[in-house]
Amino acid sequence: MSEIKKFRLTCIVCPLGCTVEVTMEGDRITGVEGFTCPRGKDYAIQEIREPKRIVMSVVKVRGGRFPTVAVKSDRPVPKELIPAIMKKLAEVEVEAPVSVGQVIVENVLGTGANIVATREA
Ligand code: SF4
Repeated sequence: MSEIKKFRLTCIVCPLGCTVEVTMEGDRITGVEGFTCPRGKDYAIQEIREPKRIVMSVVKVRGGRFPTVAVKSDRPVPKELIPAIMKKLAEVEVEAPVSVGQVIVENVLGTGANIVATREA
């Protein structure tokens, strides 16, 4: 018989912050409790199976008013790829002017997410 483990998560999909408990037997999810709406259940399963996060960072700007510009991913990326994405962003330098929403890196590391500017520079 597989070991039973319980994971307690805080759903971050909306400000209510429900506590969701996921039960696993071995690799199988056998129960999800505590969510108030289906989005919470989906979030908890995703968080256990393949956690994702929005990446926020800065990249260098050449010829701008400031030496860097704030950027973020336009969708969540797998959490385990975040160190590699940060390393890639440390090597990126863009030419001013930079506009809000401008794609700085397309399909970063094949994740399907674009890195976009969140400020002008
Ligand atoms: S379970 Fe639903 S209501 Fe609760 S925090 Fe998540 S999204 Fe909000």
